[in-house]
Amino acid sequence: MLISLKTRSLKDYESLHLILTNYSLLPLSYDKKKQLDKWCKVNLLLISWKAQWADYAHFTPACYDLVSSLNNHSPPNIILLGKSGSGKGTIARDLERNLNYCTISIGDMHREENKRGSNLGIRIRSLLLNNRIDSKEMSKISHTMLRRKLKIIVPSERPVIFDHFPTFSSNIPYMEKLIKEFRLTNVVVIVPDISDSESLKRLHSRIVCSSYNCREIYNLLTKPPKNENICDTCGSPLVNRIDYTQVNFNKKISFYRNVTEKVMHLLGQQMTVYHIQNLHLLLQRYVF
Ligand SMILES: [Zn+2]
Repeated sequence: MLISLKTRSLKDYESLHLILTNYSLLPLSYDKKKQLDKWCKVNLLLISWKAQWADYAHFTPACYDLVSSLNNHSPPNIILLGKSGSGKGTIARDLERNLNYCTISIGDMHREENKRGSNLGIRIRSLLLNNRIDSKEMSKISHTMLRRKLKIIVPSERPVIFDHFPTFSSNIPYMEKLIKEFRLTNVVVIVPDISDSESLKRLHSRIVCSSYNCREIYNLLTKPPKNENICDTCGSPLVNRIDYTQVNFNKKISFYRNVTEKVMHLLGQQMTVYHIQNLHLLLQRYVF
């Protein structure tokens, strides 16, 4: 019952508020209430963006009551798209830790299979080496893996983050099929927005934990580890994952412009696309 996401103006908001303040919450455990509370805030954050109230801090307690008075809070299922270095990884990790989200990353699933040394893993590696990431065979492999993962996640009722999927517009029909099959509701596209120069700067200063199970992301400028080159969380060494040369970077940016932006445009015809600056900061400040 997420009426609120369709709310556009402050006036709509106020009338909805009048109707809904009489709603009472179902009897729920303290933990469940706490979690619903956070989901509410995520939804509010999105509503505020849609209504272009760029400053979330101006939310009145009344607006907050509105959402917390709904007895059926459904967290958004998120398609996370954006430039390299826009903070997708950090956002996904924060949402997992604080709001029980589960992230599905095609890249991670490929790496995992590859590491396992299975026949499928070997095939994936060869397709990647031959630059055939957008081939039909690769799509088929990715789709099967995605479906397998959703079969595990969905019954656990955890909301899902699709990390950079759909990658190509050819993935969209399959995505639509999955949304129907698994009855995913309230699916939104979130794009953490940053400029090209900011993206380059962040990539240069980004280091990640080398432990596959941890993969904590650090940034020498904005989020340095406590001890140089050692992960705060698990103590593993930190590495600079890719060599971000200017050529590599230009390739990434042109992929974003030619492929990712087209995907966003097509998805935007059926769901809401939120371009949000500094999303990770907003989440940390207002939600967690
Ligand atoms: Zn670590």
